Amino acid sequence: MSETNQPPNQSCLCRVVVVQSAAVSTLNSLVDNHFECFICLDTFKGPNVILKCLHHFCETCINKNIQRCGVQCPACGARFTSRRDLRKAQLLEDIVSEKDVVAASLLLILSTGTILLV
Ligand SMILES: [Zn+2]
Ligand SMILES: [Zn+2]
Repeated sequence: MSETNQPPNQSCLCRVVVVQSAAVSTLNSLVDNHFECFICLDTFKGPNVILKCLHHFCETCINKNIQRCGVQCPACGARFTSRRDLRKAQLLEDIVSEKDVVAASLLLILSTGTILLV
């Protein structure tokens, strides 16, 4: 890893800003598109996975849906037997909650200027 401490000139500075915002928006859309709850269309809050079909939903969303529609997956209609077929999706929750941290460290890496040498 080569790191330069030279101050970037004006055009480089612009490029860094563009690259940074592009990286953050890519990351955000990645998270939004892949970690979006089918029910509330928002990023998962305390995601749970249905073991039968592996679809994920927010804990509150799937619980509300079970009360209203029974033990059935709102995304694919797969029937499951009880709430015991739901598991907390810990890894997914960690990724979603770390999203801002990941974005911040990405910014830090990009702002070293290393990206300009690529
Ligand atoms: Zn939800
Ligand atoms: Zn499903």
